[in-house]
Amino acid sequence: MTSAPAPITPAHRVTFWRTLRFRLAVWNALIVALTAGITLAGLRQGVQWTLLHELDQILTEDLEEVELAVRETGTGDLVQLTDHLTLKAIGHKQHQWFVELRGPEDDVLWRSEGTPESIQDAVVTARSPITVDGYRVVEHRIEGSPRISSARVGASLELMQQDIQRLDGLVLIAGILLLLIAPLLGYWLARRAAQTIGDIIHTASHLNPGRLEDRLRILGTGDELDQLSHTVNHLLDRIAAYLQQRREYLANIAHELRTPLAAVRSSVEVALVGDRSPQEYQDLLGEIIEQGESLESLVNQILLLAEAEADDLMERTEPVDLREVAETSVDMFRGVAEVRGIWLQTQRIDVAVIPGRRTHLSQLVNNLIDNAVKYTPQGGRIDVSLVRDPEAGEVTLTVRDTGIGIAKSDIERIFDRFFRADRSRLRDPSVRGSGLGLSICKAIVAAHHGEIVCASEIGKGTTFTVHLPLG
Ligand code: ADP
Repeated sequence: MTSAPAPITPAHRVTFWRTLRFRLAVWNALIVALTAGITLAGLRQGVQWTLLHELDQILTEDLEEVELAVRETGTGDLVQLTDHLTLKAIGHKQHQWFVELRGPEDDVLWRSEGTPESIQDAVVTARSPITVDGYRVVEHRIEGSPRISSARVGASLELMQQDIQRLDGLVLIAGILLLLIAPLLGYWLARRAAQTIGDIIHTASHLNPGRLEDRLRILGTGDELDQLSHTVNHLLDRIAAYLQQRREYLANIAHELRTPLAAVRSSVEVALVGDRSPQEYQDLLGEIIEQGESLESLVNQILLLAEAEADDLMERTEPVDLREVAETSVDMFRGVAEVRGIWLQTQRIDVAVIPGRRTHLSQLVNNLIDNAVKYTPQGGRIDVSLVRDPEAGEVTLTVRDTGIGIAKSDIERIFDRFFRADRSRLRDPSVRGSGLGLSICKAIVAAHHGEIVCASEIGKGTTFTVHLPLG
């Protein structure tokens, strides 16, 4: 056996680990950590490369200076040169700057004080500086000097490494701060977003057909969540309006059924109290039959509207001769119209066969002519016409009367179920109606993919025009 999904109630609340807030916070932290990690690592590498590149440039310039000095010295006194280089080495002591001069056999001729032993055997290519044992070293061959064939210049990387270590410290602190702030910020943001969703869940879980006035809060941010709340509220408005309509419809049905039922009951009660003549019993039974008929007609109308709602009106369609339908209907009402002193006649009636349901189309024409007869005073006139227009692909049925007319404000509502316009202008108070006739007409016309319009003027008359496609 399958069971329906249970509604979300406070008892069904998800655990904290599965909340949107928590998951968004974790995702946010991961993304921030990854982005920050890559950025900071890239930054560190960039700074290190820049510092090393600058040092290489300085060393190369120094080496070029040494080269020049060596060439200028030529075969002259080397002491003057080495004194000059010693002074320079002392001047750059904090960088542990050194210089080494080599002879044609690659033997060390002279080196400044503090030159590391470890660089002595290092093989340095002419173009690219290398790192040896914590020192950066560059070497150039010196052409045109009889005694000195190459020179090396170098400096310690210690200061640069200290700078990098300091930068590493800063990067670490920034990383830790980001890792702490990112989840908190993510949680805060996710909480703000989830709050609105929580509101939606809360309101939705408390909704029921008897309590549809609750609406979601609109924060006015104009974001997607606000739009979602708007959409949900709009949906609730429509559901509430629909349910209200249903309630009124049911109340109207109950009201309409009550009147004939009460009449039947009172006729039966009268028949049961005391002795009556056969004629009186006959009259009472006649009354009951009449009320029974009006009950039956009302129930049939309600069923037809239910069928229309379920889109069942057009099952089993057939070719329907509208001319025959219109003429039969006019013949049927001619007698009643004559009794009331109304001139009912047909104008142009074309032959028009359309696909549809004959019973429903007959009911459509009957309802329109019935209304025209009911709402046209003595001496009035009713014209019925049926015009086939093959070019427009439609047939137009018109029922025009010179009756009491309908107020402009009511015209929009006459197709509503159970709507009846002001009856004070009716001369004949015995005119009865359920207020369902025109809503049935509208449903039948819609099922045949047509259109029905009403034009009316108070005191002058009403015209109903029905356009139906030829199919
Ligand atoms: P009813 O059973 O009351 O006639 P309908 O749905 O057929 O119900 O019509 C709705 C209302 O529209 C009527 O109560 C009447 O006020 C108005 N109406 C319909 N047809 C006409 C007409 N031909 N002339 C004047 N009023 C009309």
